[in-house]
Amino acid sequence: MNINGYTRLAAVVANPIKHSNSPFIHNMAFEMTEVNGVYLAFEIENNNLAQIIENIKIMDMYGVNLSMPFKKEAVKYVDELTPVAELIGAINTIVLKDDGSLLGHSTDGSGFFNSLENYHVEGQTISILGGGGAALAIIAEACVQKANKVFVFNRKSANYPILQEKLNKISKASGVEIILQDLADEEKIQGSVNESTLLINATSIGMKDKSMPINPSLRLPEGIVVADIIYQPAETEFLKWAKSQNVRTINGLGMLVYQAAESYELWTGKKMPALTIKEALERKIYETRS
Ligand code: NAP
Repeated sequence: MNINGYTRLAAVVANPIKHSNSPFIHNMAFEMTEVNGVYLAFEIENNNLAQIIENIKIMDMYGVNLSMPFKKEAVKYVDELTPVAELIGAINTIVLKDDGSLLGHSTDGSGFFNSLENYHVEGQTISILGGGGAALAIIAEACVQKANKVFVFNRKSANYPILQEKLNKISKASGVEIILQDLADEEKIQGSVNESTLLINATSIGMKDKSMPINPSLRLPEGIVVADIIYQPAETEFLKWAKSQNVRTINGLGMLVYQAAESYELWTGKKMPALTIKEALERKIYETRS
């Protein structure tokens, strides 16, 4: 990489962030597409967020990615939001536009659907387990892309009524029916999955151990695609279970790469070679661990 006086900066801003794979993805993209840029990870304290975002303009950066805990708060500091960002009230990307203003966008949902390959959301019925930040981004994107109906399952925690309100807002704004149900209601899950062409685990269950978000007695309809947005481990218990029923399964690594690809394209106007980078990331993450 040839850093000189023309090199422009992009960064991910979060806390913690030192473990992030985003610098690997974006710096490989800069190199492969011959763009004179560099991507760093900034681990900052909460009270420095406004200043960091102001620096995008001052330093003529491409923009930044945001991760936990800044995705919601950062909305306050941008000039404009995309429709998906507006629906969920959170952003993972800020773009410095040519006119000097800042655009806030959420690429998690579109990144997820782009990672599925050959799945066209329009008119489809989708079941999603979990209603956290990542789930909401996927739900909002499904609605913007005109899904027929979205079933959401969450445990009956303190978040449940808050989630219901957020889903009502997304449903009202998009005109897509969203039905929230209890993650413990096995009958409802079976009924919803029977109607769906896509089942997604967007809970964090399965990340740390071999637990499952649903009862393994659930039967999957033929042809359904099953995705887990977790990518470490490469195959969660949920995906192993789905695979045993002979359906197409996909983990969350593609979502990670394709959400980055959309940010990169907004910043540089160049297409990220996402497939090559995903393969390199697979080698980095999975082969060094085995
Ligand atoms: P989050 O906002 O904390 O949401 C977590 C969700 O999981 C909530 O719906 C939560 O329910 C549910 N949950 C957690 N523990 C549970 C349990 N024991 N039983 C039932 N439900 C439980 O997290 P997030 O940011 O949405 O992330 C969710 C997962 O997606 C994480 O594993 C994260 O690593 C992964 N992710 C992947 C990508 C990618 O690019 N592949 C991007 C973002 C996130 P409550 O509302 O009741 O707490």
